[in-house]
Parts: sequence; C-alpha cells; structure tokens
Amino acid sequence: MSEPRLYRYDTHVHTSEGSKCAKSSGREVAEAYHARGYDGIIITDHFFNGNSTVPRDLPWRERVELFTAGYRAAKEYGDKVGMQVFFAWEDSSEGNDFLTYGLDENWLADHPFIDRLPLVDYLKYIRAEGGTIVHAHPFRQDYYIPMIRLLPDRVDAVEILNGHRKDEENRRAKWYADSYGLPWTAGSDNHDVMNGFAETGVLLDERLNGTAHYARLVLERKIRGCFPHLEGCS
Ligand SMILES: [Zn+2]
Ligand SMILES: [Zn+2]
Repeated sequence: MSEPRLYRYDTHVHTSEGSKCAKSSGREVAEAYHARGYDGIIITDHFFNGNSTVPRDLPWRERVELFTAGYRAAKEYGDKVGMQVFFAWEDSSEGNDFLTYGLDENWLADHPFIDRLPLVDYLKYIRAEGGTIVHAHPFRQDYYIPMIRLLPDRVDAVEILNGHRKDEENRRAKWYADSYGLPWTAGSDNHDVMNGFAETGVLLDERLNGTAHYARLVLERKIRGCFPHLEGCS
C-alpha cells in the first residue's frame, strides 16, 4: 500500500493589491502556486499598520474591501482550478510582524481600528477573539527594524522557517520556539512569484477547511513537516 499523501500549503504569501512591497497580483500568485502543485496558500498581506497599499483616510469597510482584493483575486483563480486560497493578515508594529490567522474578512470588517491598538493590546485582543498569532521571522534584522522584540507569552507560535530570511535568522527563530516550548510554522513570505520564488511551507496530513483549522493544527502540533526540509521540523 502506498503512503497516504501529505498536503502542501504556503502559509505566508503577499499580493501587490494589498502589499506595497509585493510585485505579483493575486491572480499571478494563484497561477504560480497552482503550476507548482500546491494544495493551498494563505494570503497574508501587510495590514494597515504595515507596508499597506490601502489609503488611511477611507471608511473602514472600504479599506477592508481594498485590503482583501488580492486575496479575492487569488481565490477566484484558485476556485476555478481547485487550489485552496485562504485569508489572513500580517500585523506590524515598529518593524515586528505578527501573522494573524483564524479570523476572516467579515470579522475584520466588523472590528474597525484594530490596526491602532498598541502591540500587546492587539495580541491580547486577537487571541481573546479566537485568533491565533504567529510571530513571523522574529530575528529579522533590517534598517527599518529598530529592535528585536520577543513576546513568548503573547504569541501562539513562531515562524521558524521563512523562505526569504537568512539561515541564521531562521536558526535563531527555531531556538526561540524550542526554548519556550512554542509550536512552529513555516512559510515563504513570497512577494514576487516571477523572481526568487521560495518554495517554503508546511506539510499536513489533512486538507484544510480554513485558517482556523490551520491554526488548530499548529497549536496541537500536528504539522507533519516543512519544506525545504529543516532538521527538527516534524
Ligand atoms: Zn512586504
Ligand atoms: Zn510577510
């Protein structure tokens, strides 16, 4: 009998509709992942407090509408070809980034101004609402990031493998997750599917039915592995 197959998902993907620093549209993103045989992707554009394309001076619901455009375009294509596309976002606070899963675009439309909460209040609020926080590339160092900030009691999991970070930054992230007993995740952080596409993500035993399902597997430590293979991610 053949081994049951594992499902491949990228959990950290940007589109140019939502993220100022991204080069590929939602449609282009979905085409590229489908061509590579992925089972699904989670679109995580930069939230309004990050490198967002969305103007600040519009009504909240209009902002959410613009924010979700890349996700919707990707999902439209994904639905046609049978690849799953889910919605999440990447919250930013002074250069530190927090992937937010398990709450959908309707929840976001109903919760104006959460982008203005100070970081710790944001993390508490999201988790109280049933959302799950993954600290993205916690050891990223760059000119626009004033400090590395670790909040082990305030996040649910740590991204230990990011397709666009240096090995040493990923190694430190894994050390962080391991030393605090935090669950781990992996994702590409792709911004451009034409140049430098990173094949990075998680392997799952089951097909997802949404980001709350994904978050549950992360918290229950049921992620089966990551790609590219990393020692200790299984
Ligand atoms: Zn970006
Ligand atoms: Zn990102």
